[in-house]
Amino acid sequence: MRKLEGLGGDKIFYYFEEICNIPHGSGNEMALSNYIAAFAKERGLYCRQDDHYNILIKKAGSKGYEEAPPVILQGHIDMVCEKNAGTEIDFLTDAIDIYTEDGFIHARGTTLGADDGIAVAYMLALLDDTTLEHPPIEAIFTVDEEMGMGGARAFDVFDVEGKRFLNMDTEEEGVLLSGCAGGRRVRLYLPAEREKSAPDREAYLISVRGLKGGHSGADIHLQRANANRLLGRILYMLREKADFALAGIDGGNMDNAICREAEAIVLLEKSGADAAREVLAKAEDVLREEYNSAEASITITMEVLQEKVFQVFTEETKNKAISTLLLLPYGVQTMSMEMEGLVESSSNIGIVKTTDEYIYFDNAVRSSVESRKELISQKIHAIGSLAGARCEEVNDYPGWRFNPESSMLKLFAEVYLERYGKEAEISAIHAGLECGLFSEKIPGLDMVSIGPEMYDVHTPDERLSISSAIRVWGFLKAVLKKMDH
Ligand SMILES: [Zn+2]
Repeated sequence: MRKLEGLGGDKIFYYFEEICNIPHGSGNEMALSNYIAAFAKERGLYCRQDDHYNILIKKAGSKGYEEAPPVILQGHIDMVCEKNAGTEIDFLTDAIDIYTEDGFIHARGTTLGADDGIAVAYMLALLDDTTLEHPPIEAIFTVDEEMGMGGARAFDVFDVEGKRFLNMDTEEEGVLLSGCAGGRRVRLYLPAEREKSAPDREAYLISVRGLKGGHSGADIHLQRANANRLLGRILYMLREKADFALAGIDGGNMDNAICREAEAIVLLEKSGADAAREVLAKAEDVLREEYNSAEASITITMEVLQEKVFQVFTEETKNKAISTLLLLPYGVQTMSMEMEGLVESSSNIGIVKTTDEYIYFDNAVRSSVESRKELISQKIHAIGSLAGARCEEVNDYPGWRFNPESSMLKLFAEVYLERYGKEAEISAIHAGLECGLFSEKIPGLDMVSIGPEMYDVHTPDERLSISSAIRVWGFLKAVLKKMDH
């Protein structure tokens, strides 16, 4: 018995349910990829499945559209696998347990995978239906989007002919997404030189807590505080008033999350503890005042550390670490000149860790303009070279710069206005999409990204609006029909 029977939307929910029945978490896409390949074979469509399980399927243009330039449709077949504590599921082997309620499709206790299963369903429904009017279609199904876009990165475009590209990994109906940021991780490894601690000193733990955090792309414009940066400022202030040794600094676990908590181990003479507490109390006041409503709960504490600390950083390492924390770029760096309110470039000091050999600073750099991403990386390099730290860059991916002249955008906006009777919102995001990688692979690509309403993606509350999925399906068909032929 099918759970999504009779909802309308041609066969989109049929295919969506098929997809939910085949496990397809990131790194486990083989079965779904094989299903899609078999689907193409049954229908005699050109199909190329690569070693990564990415797939390209081509379908000829319908009658009258045979000679039209092809359009590329794209979505990712992997999903984020999250579950509630107490939900029994093996994501490697079990189907997603879907149900409908109040106009939404939900999953019982887990992520649904509408991100980006609905795009896969749209593409399969389009490829399956022989009654639709459309130019030649090149449907690209990528793997591993959620784990760093490895599928799109590896995908070879030698047999892709289209120059018009529709990505369907957006989660808001009525928004025509037209740009995204590129990014990379830039890491510094500062050698941690140590010496024996003076005997009369006691170890304390200084903690910065109570910050809101957030996504280092989507939330960076909110100008929230980063605990790693605050820790640098606090240690700098403390150094001016108190004589202390530093034994470690740590904050954050993810490069792409705004750091919420950070801590330092400092060693002070017992008699200096009160003066230090005073500095910290003052710093807390100053920072709360400075961040005002953005961060009302900044909390700085200093507690005696129970375990003994025998080794501390040399004065030089201590000073270099404090300066690095203070100087690393953090927050919004530039705003877009083409789109009001859009962050163009940013940087985030996501992780700071002390190990036996070094102090490690991991930064997530983003920009929709390649040269500005480069500039921020160069600044981090320069700070590293001043401090004698080794620098490393990994996970680079290109951005997609907003093009106000895009004819795809114009077409989508026109058809939207016709169907909905109101203007679509044209927007861009300060986070990564696979579009950036495709725009780099296929020069001159004209792109738009759309999708139906879904909420709380990447969490067990993820849900897809049924009516929105049907409207976006209608919109998609109408746009394809309207493409020149
Ligand atoms: Zn997605």
